[in-house]
Amino acid sequence: MKDESTSSSNFEAIDQSSGKPLDENKTTAVDASEETITAFLGKENESIVRNTPKTIQNQNEEKPVKLEGRRLVDIQYFLDCVKNLNNHEPKFGCTLSNMNVIKEVRNGYVSIFKLKCDICRGTYDLQTTARNPNQDAVLGVMMIGAGYSALAQLSTCLETPFPSQRTYRIQEDILGETFETISLKSMRQAGEMEKKLAIEAGDLSPDGVPMITVVADGSWAKRSYRSNYNSLSGAAAIIGCRTKQVLFIGIKNKYCTICQLSKNQGHNQMPKRHKCFKNFEGSSTSIEGDILKEGFLHSLEHHGLIYHKLIADGDSNFLKKILDAHPYKNVIVKKIECRNHLLQNYSRKIRDLGKDVNAGPLVLRKQISKEQLRLRYAVTKAIEHRKNEGVPMLEKIKLLRQDIDNSISHVFGEHKLCAELGYFCHEQYKPSGSILSYILKNDRPIRQII
Ligand SMILES: [Zn+2]
Ligand SMILES: [Zn+2]
Ligand SMILES: [Zn+2]
Repeated sequence: MKDESTSSSNFEAIDQSSGKPLDENKTTAVDASEETITAFLGKENESIVRNTPKTIQNQNEEKPVKLEGRRLVDIQYFLDCVKNLNNHEPKFGCTLSNMNVIKEVRNGYVSIFKLKCDICRGTYDLQTTARNPNQDAVLGVMMIGAGYSALAQLSTCLETPFPSQRTYRIQEDILGETFETISLKSMRQAGEMEKKLAIEAGDLSPDGVPMITVVADGSWAKRSYRSNYNSLSGAAAIIGCRTKQVLFIGIKNKYCTICQLSKNQGHNQMPKRHKCFKNFEGSSTSIEGDILKEGFLHSLEHHGLIYHKLIADGDSNFLKKILDAHPYKNVIVKKIECRNHLLQNYSRKIRDLGKDVNAGPLVLRKQISKEQLRLRYAVTKAIEHRKNEGVPMLEKIKLLRQDIDNSISHVFGEHKLCAELGYFCHEQYKPSGSILSYILKNDRPIRQII
C-alpha cells in the first residue's frame, strides 16, 4: 500500500491541554514543524530501517501535555523506538523518565509525539507506526461494505483519532484505481485460461475463433416505499463457465451529483471539471442488458473469444438485446436456462399452487405444499446423478427428462419408474391408491401443473 495521500496539510498538531476532540478535521493549533512532517513523509522508510526517531531541534520551552484516548501502534516498531529514546543521550545519562510529551502531530491513525528531555533539553519524535494505516482502515471499511461514518463511529467508540473525510476520499480513490487495475489483470488472465480450455476442447467457430459458454447476470436495486422506485445505477457481469472467473464487469449510473447540482443552479451553467459518474441514459430496467451487450460486443477485442452460449436467468430479456447487436459474424448466441433459476421457478409455482384456492381441494394442496422441498430435492439429485454418468450428452438429457417426470410419481407415492431407473427407491409401482392418483383424478388446475 502506498501512502500517497499523506500530505502535510493532513497533519495536525494537538495541544492536548486544550482538550479538543480527536477528529483531525477540527484543527487546533496547527503549528506542526515542517521538519517533523518531512521527516515522516520523505524519510519514512529510512526511519524504518534505522528504527530511530528523527531528532527535531526545538528551542522553545513547552509545557508537558496530557494525552487522552488510544492510539494504533505498530508494536515492534514502537517498542524499538521507545527503547532508543530511553538511551537518547548517553553522555548525560538521561532516560525516558526525564522526558515529557509536549506535542502530538496526527495524520488520521498515525501520531508523532514530540518528547522533550528535562536534562539535555533535546526534543525527540516518537512515531506510532512505521507504515501509514489510514489506507488499510479505508480498505477494511470498503470490504465490509460500509463508509466513512462507520469508520468514524468505530474509532470514536475505540477512542482513537481517525482520518478526516478528505483523507478518506483520497485513499478511496487510490484504492479504486488499484482495484480497477487488478480486476482488469485478473479478467485478462481468466480470458486466457478460457481460451486455452476452449482450444483444448475443440470449441472453435467456423473461422477458428475459440468459443465459450458464459454465465451472465446483473442487478439494479429497487426501493419500495408505498410506490416503487428504480435505482439510478446497475451492475452486470459475465463469467466464464469453465473457469468460473469474471471476464467482464460493467457499472452504469444515471446520476452524477455534480452534474445535477450545476443543472439545478441554472440551464446555462456548465459543471466544473469533475470525475463524472454518469454514463447511462435510458430506463433503469435496460441497464443490465446494455452492460451485457457491451461485454459481448467487446469479447473478441478483449479476449479473442466468442461467447456462443449464455446461461442466464429465466426472466432475463437481455438475450434479444444481445442478438440484435449481432456481436459475431458467423455465430448466433444461444441461451441456456440456468438450473438454479429453473428450480427457483419450479418451487415458486408449487408454493403458489398451495395457496391458490381455485386450484383444488385444500387437503391435496396442503399435501403438495408439504412436499415442496422433496420435489425440488428429487430434481437436484437427478441432475447430480446424470451429470456424473458416463453416457453421451443426448442420452443424459433423455434420462434426466424421465427422472424429472418420475420425481413427482416418487414423491407422491406412486413410484412408477423407481424400480426401473434403479436409484430413486426400491418401492414397487402402485397404480392406484397413492396421493398422485387422487391428484390425477382431480380436474382442477392442480392437475395441469403436476
Ligand atoms: Zn536527555
Ligand atoms: Zn457529472
Ligand atoms: Zn420411488
